[in-house]
Order: sequence, then C-alpha cells, then structure tokens
Amino acid sequence: MTAPTLAPAPAPARPAAAPPPIDRAALAQRTDQVAAVAAEHVARTDRDASFPVEALAEMRRTGLLGLLVPTRYGGLGGDTDAMVRTSIALGRVDMSVAVIFAMHCQQVAALVRYADARLREELLPEIAAGRRYLASVTTEAGKGGHLLTSAAALGRDDDRLVLDRFAPIVTGGEYADGFLVTMQSPESTSPNQVSLVYAHREQLTVERSGDWQPLGMRASHSVALHLKGTLPGHQVVGEHGDFRSMVTAVFGPMAHIGWSACWLGTAAGALSRVVKMLRGPQSRGRVDLGSELLLTRLSRARQRLDTVHALLAQAQRVVATHEDLSPPRIQLLLNALKITAAEECHLAVDGLVEAVGMRHGYLKDSPTRLEHSLRDLRSAALNYSNDRLHLVDGRLALLDQEVRLD
Ligand SMILES: Cc1cc2nc3c(=O)[nH]c(=O)nc-3n(C[C@H](O)[C@H](O)[C@H](O)COP(=O)(O)OP(=O)(O)OC[C@H]3O[C@@H](n4cnc5c(N)ncnc54)[C@H](O)[C@@H]3O)c2cc1C
Repeated sequence: MTAPTLAPAPAPARPAAAPPPIDRAALAQRTDQVAAVAAEHVARTDRDASFPVEALAEMRRTGLLGLLVPTRYGGLGGDTDAMVRTSIALGRVDMSVAVIFAMHCQQVAALVRYADARLREELLPEIAAGRRYLASVTTEAGKGGHLLTSAAALGRDDDRLVLDRFAPIVTGGEYADGFLVTMQSPESTSPNQVSLVYAHREQLTVERSGDWQPLGMRASHSVALHLKGTLPGHQVVGEHGDFRSMVTAVFGPMAHIGWSACWLGTAAGALSRVVKMLRGPQSRGRVDLGSELLLTRLSRARQRLDTVHALLAQAQRVVATHEDLSPPRIQLLLNALKITAAEECHLAVDGLVEAVGMRHGYLKDSPTRLEHSLRDLRSAALNYSNDRLHLVDGRLALLDQEVRLD
C-alpha cells in the first residue's frame, strides 16, 4: 500500500488588496464632468428654484458621491483635501450644487467614522455605487440652528427606534435616498442628550410642507419635511447621546471646511468671470483697465479670496495632523474659518458689483453672474448663524489665556 501523498494545504485566501485612492488628475476629470452638467442647467435651476437632478445624476455616475468612502467598500477613498478641491471646483459653477455635494460628504464622513460595522457594511457600498445621496437633518422648529440640542425624542419599540421629526429646512430632502437626523436620545432627561440616527428613505414616510422660494441657494431645494418611521436599533450612529463629540471631531470640521470651500469657489468663479469680461474684446475701448478705483477693487476682491484660501489651508492642515480637535484653539480656528469665509466671500462679490456697475454687476443676464453669486453667498452667514459661532468663540477665547496660535 502506498502512502497517500500529502498535497500541500492551499494557502488561505488573502483578502484582495483595496485599490489605491483616486489620484488628483482622475478626480479633476470626474469633477469637470459634474461641473459641465451643472453649468448646463444652472440658469434654469436658479430661476425655477428646482433641484439640480442632472448634476446629482452625474455625481452618482462619476462616483463622486462615494468620494469619501474607503476603497475597500468600493469608494474613491478620497480625503478632506479631495473634498475641498471638488467643492471649490463645483462652487465656481453653482454654489447650490457644491453645497449639496459638500453636505453629503459631511454625512458620509460621520458614517465612516462612527457607524457600527453592520451599518457600514450595509450602507457604504451603496453610497460608493452612487445609489445613496444623503441629506442632513439638524435644524428644528423652535431651537433654530442650535446643533447640540433636540426637542423631538426618539421612541423605542423593543430594540427598534421610532422617529417622528419635523425638519424645517433640508437641502435636497425631496431627492435624498437617506437622512442623518439628530433627535433627543431615547429615555433622555434633557434636550442636550442628542443622538444621530440614519434612516433610509424607504423606512420613512416623508411629507413635504410649504413652498421653497428663497433669495439665493434656490437650487439647493431646502424644503421643510416631516419624517416618520421605525428603524432597526443599529442605525444609531455612534453612541446614543454622544452627538456632541461627533460635532467636535467630524461634523463641525467637515461642515466648516466644506462650506468654506464652496463659498470660496463661488467667489473665485465670480472674480474669474469678471477678469475675463474685463480683458475680453467686448470691453476694449469701453473699460479703462488703468482706473485706480477699478484696480483697487479688483485687488480687494483678490485679497479677500487669498485670505480665505490661506485660512482654509491652515484648517485643513490642522485637521489632518491632530487626532483631538477639541482644544479651544482648534475649535476657534475652525469657527474663524466659517465666519471669515462667509463674510469675505460675500464681500468680495459685493465689491465686484461695485467694480463693474449696473450692466455686469446687477443684471441677471450678464456673463459675470454676479447677481446670482451674491444672492447665493448671502446665505453663508445664516447657514449655521455666524452670531451663534461668535458666542461660542467668545467663551472659547476666555478658556485660552495664553492665546495659543496653532
Ligand atoms: C441654504 C441653506 C441650506 C440649509 N440646509 C440645511 C439642511 O440641509 N439641514 C438642516 O438641518 N439645516 C439646514 N439649514 C439651516 C441652517 O443650518 C441653520 O440652522 C438655519 O439657517 C438657522 O436658521 P435661523 O437663522 O432661523 O436660526 P437661528 O440660528 O436660530 O438664528 C435666528 C436669528 O437669531 C440669531 N441668534 C441665534 N442664536 C442666538 C443667540 N444665542 N444669541 C443671539 N442671537 C442669536 C441669529 O443671528 C439669527 O439672526 C440650511 C440653511 C440654509 C441657509
């Protein structure tokens, strides 16, 4: 009898290596595709206050909705820097489209960091495939924009969560495939105990109320919704009652960096269109490019944009290099970015209106599109009120007697 030959045991299957994150050139190409679609529809979506469905479809198709999803879940594996570059590029064309993208990224960043393994496995591949565009529900009637409280409490039904929430302003809410919602935690004793829950659209009844006719950001289609539904318990994101630490670590930084990038893009796009118009054949013999008033106004606009850009880059550096973002000096920097970007980008475009005057500064049909940019940028100080941030910053400033500058 011959001894059976012992075949070597097959090597254990190695998990397939995740592909590398997207490179800059490939990302720029996909961003250009979305920007081109946005540009085609921007006049109509602003005029009609309608959601940019075509640009969203292109974000789905190009994978941009999965920009921040790690590659092991099928996403592009981009980082905050990639989100910033994309937001600036989209902001140059349409601030509503840029904010829709940046706010979706903010929700994705929270899920990547805080969702439990089951929710990550369920959701991240769907986002990467472009099937889930996420909206944000933090504002509530009565408390306004205050992030860290909620009046509506989550109910419990065994291990399920019962959600019943009125949301007065939800960007893209009628088109979102999922929602991240702040609610008072189940069995909480104070409105400060806030939980973040994720809900698929199919798990909810979504009722819209009222019209959407704002001054600017018209294509953001930020309508009022009433959301109701029952969710499995694992759809709480992070620990119940722990939304505050998510705001410090992810929500706040991503919101302030993302919004600022969108606003900077919009103001940069406006300045670029003005300079092209001034140097174009239509201005020859009509505009005195040596005018000291004009030169000073252009200089001021450029100075404002470079100031915001520098602050944005500094905030990105700090976020990328610090594990703990809670020290007052870091929170102050992030808030300073949001406040400064909101003010300076708006002032830059306002100054450009003065620089070029009625025809190209105030009329809708000018190729400079200053009128549209100015209306959109007016929302920046309101979109999480600068006044609220100043109050927080005053308190934080009192905590830092040495005035440490990061
Ligand atoms: C274009 C756009 C899109 C948005 N999209 C969303 C979204 O998708 N999801 C979402 O949840 N929210 C969204 N928001 C809401 C936004 O984040 C703010 O919550 C909202 O704009 C605040 O509304 P408010 O100014 O009425 O409220 P508040 O922040 O309550 O401010 C009301 C007024 O009171 C002042 N004020 C507030 N607090 C104080 C205080 N303590 N002391 C002194 N003065 C104070 C403010 O300066 C302001 O003048 C969006 C807003 C905009 C403009």
